[in-house]
Amino acid sequence: MYRYPVAEPEIGEEELKNVVEAVKSGWVSSKGKFIEDFENSFAKYVGVKYGVATSNGTVALHLALVALNIGKGDEVIVPDLTFAATINAVIYVGAKPVIVDINPDYWCIDPNKLEKAITQNTKAIIPVHLYGHPCDMEAIMEIASRHNLYVVEDAAEAHGAEYKGKKVGSFGRISCFSFYGNKIITTGEGGICLTNDNELAEKIKILRDHGMSPKRRYWHDVVGFNYRMTNLQAALGLAQLNKIERFIEKKRGIAKIYTEELSSIEGVTLHPEMPWAKCVYWLYSILIDNKKVTRDELAEKLKENGIETRNFFYPLHEMPIYRKYANLTYPISSKISKQGLNLPSSVKLSEEDVKYIARKVREIIT
Ligand SMILES: *Cc1c(COP(=O)(O)O)cnc(C)c1O
Repeated sequence: MYRYPVAEPEIGEEELKNVVEAVKSGWVSSKGKFIEDFENSFAKYVGVKYGVATSNGTVALHLALVALNIGKGDEVIVPDLTFAATINAVIYVGAKPVIVDINPDYWCIDPNKLEKAITQNTKAIIPVHLYGHPCDMEAIMEIASRHNLYVVEDAAEAHGAEYKGKKVGSFGRISCFSFYGNKIITTGEGGICLTNDNELAEKIKILRDHGMSPKRRYWHDVVGFNYRMTNLQAALGLAQLNKIERFIEKKRGIAKIYTEELSSIEGVTLHPEMPWAKCVYWLYSILIDNKKVTRDELAEKLKENGIETRNFFYPLHEMPIYRKYANLTYPISSKISKQGLNLPSSVKLSEEDVKYIARKVREIIT
């Protein structure tokens, strides 16, 4: 147990009240009033018409790709720096992932490199809004429309983040979110697919429910999955959603303190926020390229002070199981992955906590 964890959920009386109500109602599985309420409320929050809640974020990505008929012979472009669930979903459907390098300024997929990776077989792009920072959605949507590709946003780390004033998750044909315990809001385990396309939403609902025909019970037209969210999870999520603005303001406040306290240290790059972006700083992150200490030494010293940190994800292309999908060059993700460190970003941290952590970082580095 760390005194200052990287992320932890804030769960209060409102959540408890909802979950108790759900339990007492007897609707503990995937029927019940909280599910549709949560789906509609979250979709509305992002500015998308339809929401289909799932048992986690990974299966939301899987369902999105199945619903778009992506499979064998198709290629899907993913960024090199992301959580493995992004690429795994592509592999589940039998498509070929194509790994693309990131942009050095904001750490998400680089649109220029993305365009060069497109072939005749490319069907979709999965941009990932990494650590709460949006991708360059205008550039990505423009490339996608020119090449007739689907965009499936992986917004698992960026609830409420905005690109030019528009929320992430409202750009792609389908967007996917996660509500895992360390994400911006949580349902315990959970996820959702959002789309403006009614037919797609209906298709995802069927696929989520064993492929069962909505018109004829126990009649199956497709091989589906059991990827449903429970009423208990949705009850928790609905109470969390009521607090999302406060959580995001809190995260942005934490980022502001880190940015002030850690500015102008040689060899430290701070978490970016591009002029076109509203970043939600899911995990406030820094890059360490410092003569005095390495990233790993800094992490070790912080740990001695009760401060948890997390290294950036390994680039996908470096892991043997994914290497066969890496046929391009990855100079930026290789470098940034080794330098990147996520700092404590929990909404439960006080201003004093964040200042203390920032000062420790400064003390160790300078
Ligand atoms: C958390 C996460 C997921 C997966 O979500 P789960 O709910 O844990 O399955 C997918 N993509 C990214 C980028 C994530 O951070």
